[in-house]
Formats: sequence, C-alpha cells, structure tokens
Amino acid sequence: MSRRILLLGGVTEALAIARQLGPEHVYSLAGIGRVPQDLACQVRVGGYGGAEGLAAYLHEAGISLLVDATHPYAAQISRNAACAARMAGIPCWALHRPAWQAQPGDDWREVDDWAALMKALAPFERPLFTLGREPLQHLDEIPPRQFWTLRALDACPGNERCEVIGARGPFRIEDERGLFERRAIDVLVSKNSGSVATEPKLEVARERGVPVLILKRPLLPAVDRVFASAAELTAALANAAKMPEQAP
Ligand code: NAP
Repeated sequence: MSRRILLLGGVTEALAIARQLGPEHVYSLAGIGRVPQDLACQVRVGGYGGAEGLAAYLHEAGISLLVDATHPYAAQISRNAACAARMAGIPCWALHRPAWQAQPGDDWREVDDWAALMKALAPFERPLFTLGREPLQHLDEIPPRQFWTLRALDACPGNERCEVIGARGPFRIEDERGLFERRAIDVLVSKNSGSVATEPKLEVARERGVPVLILKRPLLPAVDRVFASAAELTAALANAAKMPEQAP
C-alpha cells in the first residue's frame, strides 16, 4: 500500500504542496484563512482537539505520513503534530522556513514576548504592527503618546489610538513605502516569518532607517525530517507517495 499523507497547512508554500497531492491525500487547515476549492486532494477544515485528537484522526483515516507545513509561529499545532505522529507510530516531516537575516543598515531588536515588546516600544510613537490579530487584545495598553497601525488579514474596529487595516500578502515594495510614508511609521513590529511575500516591509524599514522589533521565533519540536523549502519537500513527498510504507 502506498503512503497516505496528511498535510497540515497554513502558509503559502503549503498550498503549493497541496496542489501536487492526489485524491487519496488530505490537506488540513485551521479554518482562519481562505479554503481552496480547486484541489485534487481532500481538504479538511478545523482543529482535532489537541495531540490526542490528531493521533486518533491519523489512526482512523489510515494516515501513514504527517507533514507539518504550518507557520513557524504556529507552535502549538507543530507540537501536537510531532506528538500525535509519535503516538500513531508514523513519521512526521516538517517544512521550516529559514528565518530572515539582518543586513547592513538594519536596526533589528529581538524581543522574547509581549512584555518585552511593550518595553522596547516605549521610545516610539507610531508603530506598525504586523503580528496578526494578537495585539488586538492589548489595545487598552497603548500609551497616550502612541498611535498604532495594526495590519491583519481583515480590517476590524480599533480604538481612538489604533487603526486596524486589513491586507493580505504578497505585499509590493511601492505599497509598503506608501504605507510607511502616509502613516509616519517610526518603528516596525514583526515576526520573523522568513516569507518572501512579507519581506518588502523590512526593505522599506532599512531604506528609512526605521528600527524593527522582532518577536523571537518559538522553539519547534524535533521531527523525523526537516525541509527548508517547498521544492525539497515536494520532491521527497513525490517519492514517499510512491514508496511502500516504512517504519518512521
Ligand atoms: P497554533 O496556535 O499553533 O494552533 C492552534 C490550534 O489551531 C491547534 O491546536 C489546532 O487545533 C488548530 N490548527 C492549527 N493549524 C491547523 C491545521 N493546519 N489544521 C487543523 N487545525 C489546525 O496556530 P496559530 O498560530 O493560531 O495559527 C493557526 C493557523 O494559521 C495555523 O495553521 C498556521 O499555520 C496559520 N498561520 C499562523 C500564523 C501565525 O503567525 N501564528 C501566520 C500565518 C498563518 P486543535 O488543537 O483543536 O487540533
């Protein structure tokens, strides 16, 4: 019997990999972003109820290879994946995008968590947050001298000191330049996602001498195989799908 793959998605590269999978495989999404309707493989939307739930699904669905192509900051699902694969006795592979590296002219300051971020933000007045929706929980912490621009997938109400704008990548450098200019951004707040689609903001920060506060990457669990690019992973999957099942 050939392998049946469960691909955990959530980043652009995962969708590209899903496009290569045949109808016996399953592409899994949390249900936050858009759900593609044009894939040959099956699409499953929604969580599993933790590692135990995922392990039960792997067993019931006869999955023989689990592939974690989730976002580098989606640490919970990655931990669940590694643990569930162990429980189910199947291999777990992961796509780990290389992190962005600071270049000459960059002023990057890494912060460990939200508390450290708020401290590092203190000297600034007009931050641009590109952390997704998490800062929405902290709108009542905005100091009186700051005005926040918060970019998330979808616009939503902010408050008198915060505007939330909705935008989906990939972002073009000229648009990012316009955003920094119009809003007089004096500091950028970002994860280190390593994505080409969201990199232009870093280039604009460099051009304008704007510091970047970078939320540290979470530690991800050890898995059986790690790939740095979708191309490498797709090639390995093409082989695995053809090959008979083997022990992890
Ligand atoms: P998370 O904290 O690691 O996961 C939270 C829960 O969401 C998981 O425990 C799981 O629920 C469910 N889940 C996550 N990914 C799933 C998938 N591919 N298929 C089925 N269930 C999934 O993740 P997050 O940071 O909230 O991110 C949610 C999703 O958005 C992820 O798929 C991630 O790849 C994507 N994303 C995240 C970011 C980011 O910055 N964090 C950015 C872009 C895209 P159960 O425990 O019930 O199984």
